[in-house]
Amino acid sequence: MTVAAIIVAAGRGTRAGGDLPKQWQMLQGRPVLAVTHQAFAATVDRVVVVIHPEDHARAREVLPDVMLCNGAETRCGSVRKGLEALDGTGVTRVLIHDAARPLVGRALIARMIAALDTAVAAAPGVAVTDALWRAEAGLVAGTQDRTGLWRAQTPQAFRFDPILAAHRAHPGGAADDVEVARAAGIAVAIIEGDDDNLKLTWPGDLPRAGRLMRERAGMDIRAGNGFDVHAFGPGDHVWLCGVKVPHGAGLVGHSDADVGMHALTDAIYGALAEGDIGQHFPPSDPQWKGAASHIFLRHAAGRAAERGFRITHADITLICERPKVGPHAGAMRAALAAILGVDAGRVSVKATTSERLGFTGREEGIAALATVTLVAA
Ligand code: MG
Repeated sequence: MTVAAIIVAAGRGTRAGGDLPKQWQMLQGRPVLAVTHQAFAATVDRVVVVIHPEDHARAREVLPDVMLCNGAETRCGSVRKGLEALDGTGVTRVLIHDAARPLVGRALIARMIAALDTAVAAAPGVAVTDALWRAEAGLVAGTQDRTGLWRAQTPQAFRFDPILAAHRAHPGGAADDVEVARAAGIAVAIIEGDDDNLKLTWPGDLPRAGRLMRERAGMDIRAGNGFDVHAFGPGDHVWLCGVKVPHGAGLVGHSDADVGMHALTDAIYGALAEGDIGQHFPPSDPQWKGAASHIFLRHAAGRAAERGFRITHADITLICERPKVGPHAGAMRAALAAILGVDAGRVSVKATTSERLGFTGREEGIAALATVTLVAA
């Protein structure tokens, strides 16, 4: 089975406000069409975006690797062009979706594809629950029985050959593809839609979609990793995870060479996808010479907070033969937890040797690994 999606983005409607058609307006920092496309790119085998011919350059910029197809005067004509573009490519199932529904969820997409196991055509609908009135001149003129009434959504799903044949046979002017299918005698199953799958129509819809997206981003959970090494040199102590540990050597570095804290700092930058410690505190800059490493860790933790993340867990492994870390692990966890502003129960510090192998085994230096988890607050 090969599943394709046709995203219809050729409309010129500006009822949603602004100068641009709604598929080109910005939603959480990205064009609406890019948000819609992402939902399908992750869930189907092939995507065709049907655009207005004048929008070609803009579409190429937003979706550089996506198959584009010029639309027609009507929605129905645009869908037909998308279907013709897919003809002969081996597609067996097709989802037809309006670009103006950027909040389409992966679960709904999966439901629609699965519905075609038993149906030739399926469409998502939401049962009408509000009472319905008929109005005349701004006054209620009667109530409308809502029994059997549904609100139609997209993506509407079809086995490919029957819907292409139905479009070819249709005289045009249909409101949607369900109407085209039914005109060809195809039964269309109603599948449970999604209330969040709203269609951007009025000016208030964009901010509402933004709020729903931010709610979804609440599920943003990130893991970052960090790794660091410092060599032993002359000295009588080392700084490890914020604790001064007496030792027969020191660690060499531009700052205080706290290898564990550096690995942890890099893990936080990694989870944020914001580079690494050397980028934020260049070794070439004399102001960081001999700097206490808690400055770096505080900065990384501060960046996480500014980005709306909370640190829910950190795990550090120090790799060395000596000094022995165990007796200091409790103090290290407390020191890191205080800098991160979290409970010590969320910070782990442990150590291992490398069985006398390699540079750590020869006691030439200490290596450290760190993993952190960030959750959008
Ligand atoms: Mg370092």
